[in-house]
Parts: sequence; structure tokens; C-alpha cells
Amino acid sequence: MEDIANPERTRKILKRYGFKFKKSLGQNFLTNITILKQIVEAGEITKDDDVIEIGPGIGSLTEQIARKAHKVLSFEIDERLMPVLKDTLNHYHNVTVLNQDILEADLQTIIAEHFDGQHNLKIVANLPYYITTPIMLHLLEAGLPIDRMVLMMQKEVAERINADPGSKAYGSLSIAVQLHSEVKLAFIVPKTAFMPQPNVDSAIVELVGRQAPLVTVENQELFDQLVRGAFAQRRKTLWNNLQNQFGKQDEVKAALTVALEQADIAPSTRAEQLSIQQFAQLSDCINEQSI
Ligand code: SAM
Repeated sequence: MEDIANPERTRKILKRYGFKFKKSLGQNFLTNITILKQIVEAGEITKDDDVIEIGPGIGSLTEQIARKAHKVLSFEIDERLMPVLKDTLNHYHNVTVLNQDILEADLQTIIAEHFDGQHNLKIVANLPYYITTPIMLHLLEAGLPIDRMVLMMQKEVAERINADPGSKAYGSLSIAVQLHSEVKLAFIVPKTAFMPQPNVDSAIVELVGRQAPLVTVENQELFDQLVRGAFAQRRKTLWNNLQNQFGKQDEVKAALTVALEQADIAPSTRAEQLSIQQFAQLSDCINEQSI
């Protein structure tokens, strides 16, 4: 069967349905079959896997996943694509498409309804770039038992996710993702692989779920608050950012000073120099001070 992603077939489908791309929904469809196959290969998808896809578009990637996976569950926000997908994915009986905003989806409940829990859970997607970070955070916060994620995103966000301490790209997103997953920047994708072509370069990121988080902390909420606060103003020192986050009262400053000393971190440090382990240690020391 001819691939949906074949540029000529894609054009025919778009014409038949009079489909006009909505830039506001991040609609850049893949028409390069080699790239699509590379994405699916990176997902190491087999019949043991149930796969969630975000934003199927006209089904180009969905089709490639469906050929390998046990089941595919795709979330598409644009209702104009529903009749198109019904047509293009007609032969794939293991695919369900939900006309739903992924950010509004109660993933735990929906997955329990559609998947039997006997298969590995994977996420494979060519993400809508205007909401890459919110989607990443939504997936992480859902606390799903995800084995592997393969996500296409703008190169700049991929670099932030993959960044090491000391680099410019390192920040709260790097920490949020690396806490739960091992990250690998798999490959860069040229703009020419898309229709229409996006303005930015893209990259495929592979995320393999960790058995346990990279660090465990006494108070996860405090850790999240600490990381967010520490990176709030990147040019400022950790000391400045901590005061802005936790308060400037004398007792708060005294407690923060003790916590920093205990964690062996200089107040003049900048957040981007701290490893995830150091953030965890500082979080536990602040927690003990009961600020
Ligand atoms: N998977 C297709 C491909 O690779 O050719 C299309 C990818 S396109 C970059 C992103 C898709 O996500 C579009 O189909 C868009 O309508 C959809 N989308 C945008 N925002 C969404 C949201 N909040 N929830 C679900 N889908 C969304």
C-alpha cells in the first residue's frame, strides 16, 4: 500500500479534503518516508507495545507506527482532520483517534480504557511545536509507566532537554525530564522533510524511562519550587533567586544560609552550575530548615 507520507499522496489527500494548514496548531506534516521510518525504528516498536501518538495530522506517522505496534491511540485537536484520518487509516484496525486536546486529556483514565496494561507503553510523536514544553510537562506529570518516548521537536527545545550542567541550555526543563528519563538526541531533521516547511530546525529526541527517578528527595514539591525559583532569573546568583523564591525576611535568609552551607554550595553560584544531585541535596537541606 502506498505510504500516506509520499509527497504526491499527501498533496492528493489535502486537495481532496480542501485542507488548509493552521499555523496556530503547529501543522507541519512529514512527507519524508525515510525520516518517518527512522522515528519508528528509534521507538523500537513491536507487537508488545501500545503506543500513544500526539497530533496524527493526516496519519503519516500513525500508519508507520500501526504497522509495527499492538495498538495506537492518537490525540488530534483539529476536528477537520477526523474525516481525513478515518479515510487514510481505514485499513489499520489497531488505531483509535480521539478528537481531543492532549493537554486536556486525563491520560491515566484514557489509557486504562483503551489499553489492557499487558503491553509496554510508548509515546511517539511529531509534536506541535507551539506547545512542546507544556506537552512534555503534561506527560511527565501524568506519572505514566512510559518505557520509551520518541519525539520530534524544535532543535532548540531538544537541546534544552538534553543539556548538561554548566551549559547555556541547561534549565528547569532539563531537570524535569532527566529526573525521570535518560535522554538521547537521536538526529537532526532538515526543514525540507515537512509540508509546509517550519521556520526552525527539528530534532528527534529519545527518552527512556528510568526504573526510579535519578534522585529522590524528601519533599518533591519543594524540589520543584527550588528548581523553578533558582532559574527564574538566569543572570542572577542563586542567593538572589532563592530570596525571591522563598522570601527576604531575616529568618528565611538565615535558614537559607544554613541550608546552602550544609549542601556545600556557595551563594554566589548560578543555578546552571548545579547538578540535579546538588539541587536534591539543597532541597533536602532547605526542607530540614522548615522555611
Ligand atoms: N503527525 C503528523 C506528521 O508527522 O505529519 C502531524 C504532525 S504536526 C507537527 C502536529 C499535529 O498536532 C497537527 O496535526 C495538529 O493539528 C496537532 N495538534 C496541535 N495541537 C494539539 C493539541 N493540543 N492536542 C492534540 N493535537 C494537537
